[in-house]
Amino acid sequence: MDGFLMEHASRGQRAFAGCLAIVILAALILAAPQATAMLPAVAPFLPMCGLTVFTTAAIVAYLLSAQFLVSRRPVFGWLAGAYAFTAMTVAMQLLTFPGLFAPTGLFGAHPTTSGWIWVFWHAGFPTFVVIAMLSQRLYLSTFTPKPVTQLLPVGRRLWLYVGLPWVVGVLLCLTALTVRLPPALLPATAPGDFSGGGTGIVLLVLNLVALGVVLGVGRLRTVLDLWVALAVLACVTDTVLSLMSTVRFSLGWYLARFFSMSAPGLLVCVLVWEVTRLYRELTRAHLRLIEYSNRDALTGIYNRRYFNDRFPGDFEQARRAGHPLSLLMVDVDHFKRYNDEHGHPVGDECLEHVALALMRSTHRPTDLVARYGGEEFVIVLPETNGKGAHFVATRVTETVRALAIPGSGPQGVMTVSVGCATHVPQQGDARDTPERLIALADEALYAAKRLGRDRVHVATGVSVGDVCEGGGAATDVPRANLSI
Ligand code: GH3
Ligand code: MG
Ligand code: MG
Repeated sequence: MDGFLMEHASRGQRAFAGCLAIVILAALILAAPQATAMLPAVAPFLPMCGLTVFTTAAIVAYLLSAQFLVSRRPVFGWLAGAYAFTAMTVAMQLLTFPGLFAPTGLFGAHPTTSGWIWVFWHAGFPTFVVIAMLSQRLYLSTFTPKPVTQLLPVGRRLWLYVGLPWVVGVLLCLTALTVRLPPALLPATAPGDFSGGGTGIVLLVLNLVALGVVLGVGRLRTVLDLWVALAVLACVTDTVLSLMSTVRFSLGWYLARFFSMSAPGLLVCVLVWEVTRLYRELTRAHLRLIEYSNRDALTGIYNRRYFNDRFPGDFEQARRAGHPLSLLMVDVDHFKRYNDEHGHPVGDECLEHVALALMRSTHRPTDLVARYGGEEFVIVLPETNGKGAHFVATRVTETVRALAIPGSGPQGVMTVSVGCATHVPQQGDARDTPERLIALADEALYAAKRLGRDRVHVATGVSVGDVCEGGGAATDVPRANLSI
């Protein structure tokens, strides 16, 4: 399961991403000539920006790790690592930045420490992206589906792809603190000019190489390719503007921070959108699954499971409301013989027709028709007394007979027998239960069979069975008396 990040990017998505890319490039081109122009100083902007990058990068790392755990695609693991590394380094940069948490930065940081960590951040992210894209290419060219049991244990892979960048990030930051790399090599004491030798050039080249690899390897085919390309473009813009603007609170400095927030921010938006979409699809699939599990595969009507779940509730509802509740047990007559004569596929068809006939015989939305098993069906009739149940049962036998399926009935057609039982709360006693009503309907069905089939038989009970007009006694109604 790869989620929609691995789906082919639609034309709409490409167009949207293209527009964003144009906006980023336009911002870079327009801002570059005035990158050093000073703007009003907003002191909280830097910590706010750092915190935003840390939070969004950590969220992206977490969501991509989750994708990796499910899909086992290395690209997700390496990208999760890239963002984990970003989160780690930006946190270290904030802690060591002069004047934020301590005048010279925490942990006895040198004035150049946060600058070096910034360099690691902007070199590490594109490096991990390059590895991610190459690992994806390798994976696609060598991948052959393996049974899940043969895959590497997730723990080891997680360590390799996600844990490793964290450790590397921490090590680099600690190195920067302890060794205190020579300030002369920094692009600028405050990130900026190219006076520090080739470090700035190396950063630029690394970022451009990453952009080239994303475009060349991914070719913007999948949704992931599209958004990773945009994230890297934002990172390139951030790097260029940072290198151009030496002074804090200049136009280039502000814009660079904005684009450093964009790189993880874009991915967060896409991943949150994906999670939302997955939830929607999961809910739909769940509802479909429930519906399937409640339906009989052959006839499409409700199955025994659904009846078992619903009937006690209907019974309790009727008892509380003081309404009668009737249950019909319907069994196809001599169905074994029919199967033997015509074969099981024709028997199946017959059952489908009978199920449809039962559905047509019930008209209220609260009525329930379910396949009880084999060639037996149940019909639950809420708020229906014995007289009403008898009326519906009669209609059932008539409708099935009208199907005129060749069978063993007196007129040479397929027939059914119906056992009928009704629960009347006013006449009820403590022994009345859903199971007892089912047992009474079942007994009535067997009585109908004994008495010659193709008929309705009404159960007798203490409180169940306020039968036809007369009520009380078991009532056997042969076919001839059952006209509607
Ligand atoms: P009676 O009138 O006493 O009910 O006789 P009967 O033959 O209908 O009852 P019996 O219980 O002896 O046989 C039921 C038959 O229903 C046996 C089985 O082959 C058939 N049957 C059960 N489920 C299915 C099904 O899903 N498809 C088909 N084609 N036949 C089924
Ligand atoms: Mg039968
Ligand atoms: Mg049967």
